Amino acid sequence: MQDAFFTGNIIMEEYEVIILGGGPAGLTAGIYLSRAKVKTLIINEGIIGGQMSLTHEIANYPGVPNISGYMLSRTMQKQAESFGCKVISNAKITSYKFADKLKSVELAGKGSFSAKAVIIASGGKSRELNVPGEKEFAGRGVSYCATCDGDFFQDKEIIVVGGGNSALEEAVALTQYASKVTVVHEFDYFQAHKKAVEEATSHPKIDFILNSTVSAFYGLQSLEKVTVKNLKSGEEFEKKIDGVFIFIGYVPQTEPFIDIVKLNERKEIIVDNTMMTSVSGVFAAGDCIEKRFRQITTAVSDGTKAALYAIEYIQK
Ligand SMILES: Cc1cc2nc3c(=O)[nH]c(=O)nc-3n(C[C@H](O)[C@H](O)[C@H](O)COP(=O)(O)OP(=O)(O)OC[C@H]3O[C@@H](n4cnc5c(N)ncnc54)[C@H](O)[C@@H]3O)c2cc1C
Repeated sequence: MQDAFFTGNIIMEEYEVIILGGGPAGLTAGIYLSRAKVKTLIINEGIIGGQMSLTHEIANYPGVPNISGYMLSRTMQKQAESFGCKVISNAKITSYKFADKLKSVELAGKGSFSAKAVIIASGGKSRELNVPGEKEFAGRGVSYCATCDGDFFQDKEIIVVGGGNSALEEAVALTQYASKVTVVHEFDYFQAHKKAVEEATSHPKIDFILNSTVSAFYGLQSLEKVTVKNLKSGEEFEKKIDGVFIFIGYVPQTEPFIDIVKLNERKEIIVDNTMMTSVSGVFAAGDCIEKRFRQITTAVSDGTKAALYAIEYIQK
């Protein structure tokens, strides 16, 4: 094997850049790097496409109106591979060594891979309620993204679950589509800043069910009703509804990097304006970094920048 060498008794396959994560950020970095003839490997723990692949319909990706997340993921993967990028999916990573000039990762059953630079594009996921029917109706009435799915609920009645900034701000934003928005929140106080609370509580289209949560989702082809449970009395009642948006927190997938690169208090990776983390030669992009807006377009933009700065770094 030409670009491989032995360390002790392990075969170490060598690349110029390794990308950890095959969502839109990682795939875009793979496209830019491999097209620039940089020997690139994408290692993805889940299925290719990340959160994007979970999306039934994407209506806001410029130039490609109404495409399924699965198709967009496949198209991006094929594009990267057409320039020579290697992709390993459903990988189980057992170790990360980023301190030395040559960075390396070890994969269960696949040996070790090294590179001069690494791009972490591990993404994240929205915190779920973990109640019956939630997964079943994800994308069919249950959503975690108002920007993505709001206009699918024009003149419909919807519920927003949560009481923090994103829940109350998105509840107000969703009133431009929905005929009525009901905020269901587990406490009788909000964890949002004053302005968000005032705007939501004074909005004519928004009402509130407090000290409560959504305990189950029902429907056939799509969501038709939920049960709402009062967490103080334990009482439950059914509510006919067209859509439920869940904003109860976001979990960046940065657990493996806690002792490797600097994270902020929300466990998001801190990067400088060259997308480099606190470790030289380790870059980061997409939903896993400290940022305000998490969209496919912003992940693609981060992936582009991280790739171009990584090229500058390896050519230094
Ligand atoms: C249900 C839903 C609908 C959405 N709809 C839209 C929409 O319509 N329009 C829009 O613009 N945005 C939408 N978004 C948001 C968008 O999908 C994300 O902003 C985008 O996917 C982030 O891309 P990413 O590459 O940073 O991360 P992700 O898409 O999260 O991909 C990260 C990948 O890295 C893998 N991974 C994690 N840890 C590791 C590791 N240590 N090593 C290797 N691989 C790892 C994960 O398995 C995953 O495959 C939606 C999100 C959700 C959840």
